[in-house]
Amino acid sequence: MILRQLFDQESSTYTYLLADEQTLEAVLIDPVREQLERDLTLIRELGLTLRYVLETHVHADHVTAAGLLRARTGARTVAGRAGAPCADVHLSDGDVIQLGELSLRALETPGHTDDSLSVVAESMVFTGDTLFVRGTGRADFQNGDPEQLYSSITRKLFTLPDDTVVYPGHDYRGHRSSTIGEEKRHNPRLAGRSREEFVAIMRGLNLPAPKKLAEAVPENRRCGAPLTA
Ligand code: FE
Repeated sequence: MILRQLFDQESSTYTYLLADEQTLEAVLIDPVREQLERDLTLIRELGLTLRYVLETHVHADHVTAAGLLRARTGARTVAGRAGAPCADVHLSDGDVIQLGELSLRALETPGHTDDSLSVVAESMVFTGDTLFVRGTGRADFQNGDPEQLYSSITRKLFTLPDDTVVYPGHDYRGHRSSTIGEEKRHNPRLAGRSREEFVAIMRGLNLPAPKKLAEAVPENRRCGAPLTA
């Protein structure tokens, strides 16, 4: 399997390019609109055919490149069951997307948002904003729910093998990846914490609203098409 981890500095977003080595069919997870040309160039340079663009959730902090990538490459856009209405494919728990030998399995992991998906591929999991390295996504808007987030992490992600590599949707401190076992032992919001403690931590965060919230959410529900279009 081919894997590239790409970073958008402004929003601290990771975009992942995954492809099957035999067929060279690819999926791009969580692309950022401002990085469209970077990502298209990489796809072309590696000789890949982009089949899917997958959103782990409707983002509030950046606008997706999904719609533009669909227009430029013919890729199909993919989201969770409760995800953006513009998506061509909506995945439920356990649904699989196949690219040659490479299988991507959807795990519904609501809590950061009600549409949040994680994606399992080989011995890796792409966790979106459900689980970060030593942190988690927030759960205070877009139908976020700390109780649900706790269940998604402990009952779904933490049942994956401990050596599963965790690739998060963002990082703000310079981390790139982790493992399920490492997060069970060292994630300060989860390790040794009860459900009640986790919920209390999340309710006490008092984070400012993301700068792009008002623009990003409606645009992302349209696969990144500007509201004026
Ligand atoms: Fe998010």
